[in-house]
Amino acid sequence: MSKRDYYDVLGVAREASAQDVKSAYRKLALKYHPDRNPGDAAAEEHFKEAAEAYAVLADREKRSVYDRFGHAGLGSAGGGGVDPTIFEDFGDILGGLGDVFGFGDLFGGRRRAGPRRGNDLRYDLEIPFDDAAGGAETTLQLPREEPCQTCRGTGAAPGSTPDTCAQCGGHGQLRYQQGFLTVARTCGRCRGAGKVIGTPCETCRGAGRTPKERKLTVKIPAGISTGQRLRLQGEGELGEQGAPPGDLYVVVHVAEHSFFHRDGDDLLCVVPIPYPTLVLGGDVSVPTLNGNEEVAVPKGTQSGARFRLKGKGMPNVTGRGHGDLLVEVQVDTPRRISKEQRGLLERLAETMHGHKVEPRAREAHDERPFFERVRDMFG
Ligand SMILES: [Zn+2]
Ligand SMILES: [Zn+2]
Repeated sequence: MSKRDYYDVLGVAREASAQDVKSAYRKLALKYHPDRNPGDAAAEEHFKEAAEAYAVLADREKRSVYDRFGHAGLGSAGGGGVDPTIFEDFGDILGGLGDVFGFGDLFGGRRRAGPRRGNDLRYDLEIPFDDAAGGAETTLQLPREEPCQTCRGTGAAPGSTPDTCAQCGGHGQLRYQQGFLTVARTCGRCRGAGKVIGTPCETCRGAGRTPKERKLTVKIPAGISTGQRLRLQGEGELGEQGAPPGDLYVVVHVAEHSFFHRDGDDLLCVVPIPYPTLVLGGDVSVPTLNGNEEVAVPKGTQSGARFRLKGKGMPNVTGRGHGDLLVEVQVDTPRRISKEQRGLLERLAETMHGHKVEPRAREAHDERPFFERVRDMFG
């Protein structure tokens, strides 16, 4: 497969400024981010392609090589591997979003040498639809291993001290020769701690840690959708020997609304309307996120027609405005009618006698002209 031109990938001119490159990439990254397109392999490809293009075009040196020699000039250095650090540049411009999406672990995460950083934890949080629409603050109660209070994390009973491990002499590692190589292996006896506990603490049985319930307050941004993650830095498992703790990822699941169906930032709502109103036109009250709103249904409205109420959808999670609310009107067929209504309907039916039932032409199904008309009215 031939590689696409990096400028084409980002959709910028060859003389585009660094700022243009950055904002073009930003747009694509938001559009194709895997968190927004779960399970969409094509979107993920676009996302990686854009990241790769950006990694090159944002680097003055790589860009000038690419300008002169194209993909060939970069060899393996500029091609395949995406440098995960480029996402750190976006911490500033993505603002809160960097946290929502957790760019860090998308490409395998950062690895540091030395004592192991604590594990990341995942917490699945179900929130009501209204909290996703309006934003909310919620308290999570979750257990985490904390240093034991009794032994202050040493694992040794109060008054006693851990002994230096005889196996490794306190190094925590055993070194041995294998051919020309010196191989270090974690000491099995002290498990790398370098110390062995003679009299274990009774509270934690020598582990040095005890599970503790914690309360965490989480801000849920308005517009969040199912599958998006909130990263709570440092709220994961504790690290080894003073290494930083991991992060806590709160994976959000938004409950379904009883009648609003969500499509991205847009909302769809089906509203049954009495047949006379569709024929004659009239005002109907439709639900929105902020209470009911009057909508004028034009005369001759077909069942299935949609009205677009601009800006009445879900708030965008990045704070960029709102989606739209699409109101689909459907003819409301009453299950029970009064004697009077029956009489009126029978008279109506007589006037329509001989009305031919035939499928509507395809063009008549196209609601666009109608749509435009309505948009003008409600814009
Ligand atoms: Zn203890
Ligand atoms: Zn040891």
